[in-house]
Amino acid sequence: MPNIGVLALQGDFREHLASLERLGEPAQMVRTIQELAQVDALVIPGGESSVIDRLSRNYGLAEPIKERIAGGMPAYGSCAGMIMLADRIENPAISRDGAVQQSFGGIDMTVKRNAFGRQVDSFEYRLDFNGQNLEAVFIRAPEAVQIGPGVQVISTVQARSEREQGRIVAVRQGNLLATSFHPEVTGSTAIHQYFINLTRGDA
Ligand code: GLN
Repeated sequence: MPNIGVLALQGDFREHLASLERLGEPAQMVRTIQELAQVDALVIPGGESSVIDRLSRNYGLAEPIKERIAGGMPAYGSCAGMIMLADRIENPAISRDGAVQQSFGGIDMTVKRNAFGRQVDSFEYRLDFNGQNLEAVFIRAPEAVQIGPGVQVISTVQARSEREQGRIVAVRQGNLLATSFHPEVTGSTAIHQYFINLTRGDA
């Protein structure tokens, strides 16, 4: 059975571990290169992508993660994790020393950070994910504003408002899955189950 890891540098990695545990799937925290080598698949949690970027580079994990993704390792990113899996960030954070936020990449898409507004604009919304209707929580959520031909759209916003209609909030490219929203904070395990199936070659 594939051994799933959760990148545990920053953000709500504990909620992802709990969701996987509820599904009876052993998952381990990944904070070092050694721990990365022990896993077959990686979940990248929500949090703050510029911090995950900075810490992963400080810990020497960014390059090995990029290499594993390029080598076909299944990965799932939620919210900040979606940003980390994007090949391009429309509005990257720029730190005081002028360094531009980077991502691991892997999914041929451009994401816009905080595309639905600020923390106070966080919202819950029901949407379709692969034939299932589920509750999705958006917290300073990104949006895929452009996708390449190899990217499959799994969920879009339907009729929350005309301005938001059709916005892309879940995508898949090969073994890589990304959602703008946070399934780990609701009771729903549908997306984690989908990712588990994907790691087994069943999705
Ligand atoms: N806006 C955050 C970022 O840019 C993501 C927020 C989240 O993960 N809830 O990383």
